[in-house]
Amino acid sequence: MIVPLLLQVDDALETVLAEARPLPAEQVRLAAAAGRYLAEPVIATIDLPPFTNSGMDGYAVRHADTPGRLEVIGESAAGTPFSGSVGPGQAVTISTGAVLPDGADAVAPIEWIDALDGAGAIEVPRPVPHDFSIRHAGSDVEHGTEVLAAGRRIGPAQIGAAASLGLSWLRCGSLPRVAVLTTGSELRKPGERLSPGQIYDSNGPLLYAALADAGADVTFIPTAADTRDAHREAITQALDHDVVISTGGVSVGGHDLVREIERELGVHELFWRIALKPGKPLSFGVSDRSPAGERSEHAPATLLFGLPGNPVSVLVCFELFVRPALLALQGAHEPRPAFGRARLATHVDRNPERDELIRVRLTTDGRLEPLRGQNSHQLAITALAAGFARIPAGSGTLAAGDEVAYLPLGGAS
Ligand code: AMP
Ligand code: MG
Repeated sequence: MIVPLLLQVDDALETVLAEARPLPAEQVRLAAAAGRYLAEPVIATIDLPPFTNSGMDGYAVRHADTPGRLEVIGESAAGTPFSGSVGPGQAVTISTGAVLPDGADAVAPIEWIDALDGAGAIEVPRPVPHDFSIRHAGSDVEHGTEVLAAGRRIGPAQIGAAASLGLSWLRCGSLPRVAVLTTGSELRKPGERLSPGQIYDSNGPLLYAALADAGADVTFIPTAADTRDAHREAITQALDHDVVISTGGVSVGGHDLVREIERELGVHELFWRIALKPGKPLSFGVSDRSPAGERSEHAPATLLFGLPGNPVSVLVCFELFVRPALLALQGAHEPRPAFGRARLATHVDRNPERDELIRVRLTTDGRLEPLRGQNSHQLAITALAAGFARIPAGSGTLAAGDEVAYLPLGGAS
């Protein structure tokens, strides 16, 4: 018997990304733009700082006059510039962020000055270097230069930078409309009573949190029981979205109906089963939404992820495939998973056929220690993980100290 080779993880990701073209951009209020992706670069329309100002509270002086006794001729406060200019032997009281008066070329910090004498003069006890404590106009960014590139994720620092340029809106990639569809006759909602054989739906809430973090406009489709009719109804509802994420029903059991019903509804499957543990049964397909019902380069297609039912597989497949797709749809510059490198704390056996994403905690010296309980149903143990270590398929064992790819999980501590 010829066993077909499983699709490699990286090839599967590229297949997904090839279908995840950026959605149209939209204007987003600055205050609501955290977590979104810039659809166009932010260009500075002013200098920052807009004017040369003081970096400290003190006295605006001519450095050539220091050390020495200087006459204080006025004040430049933040928001209220001094209108005159500083001549030889003169100084102006200045606060942090206040305009540097004409004539001055340095600021003597207030801490250097012993005391203001009664005659409105100061004694500067040591030389103040040229430009000391001065923040020049344009020293943060100059008018006309690119501050933030298109495709960048917007966080607090980027929002602050945009605000300092006076921007109140940013052009961002739209949030994908995502339908979440859990399948399984055994599922009950948290808070309900369990009858024999039933379990709580953990995939729905898990995905809700993951989607909130990745950026999505989420619709929950009521859980589909393991019947064709229930699947047909649920998937039909879900198809009218940019992305459909189903969980369960993609393995080889007699009740696994997702792929079959998707096919009936015109979904074009691009892959099923990949060389990954956990997550082997993952399916991915597209459904065309163009009026003619034909695949086209331009019409928006619905992307369908058939995630396995086991919750750890859901989390792994979300991070490796779904999040990258959502980021690409939002126009992210680098949508691929942000793996770093780290060393194993113990030896780890490799899987001969599949890359394995094992759940690890961090030792005090920053090494990766596999958690006990690596089965794909063990979500409570996974909740203790700092992240995933990627153990490449192969023979033998990786030794303690070997370096592997490491994907930290958000919210882990
Ligand atoms: P399936 O692929 O549908 O056979 O599901 C595989 C395993 O995942 C079974 O043990 C299911 O009970 C479990 N499972 C499926 N969906 C969920 C869910 N939404 N929450 C928790 N466990 C689930
Ligand atoms: Mg099932």
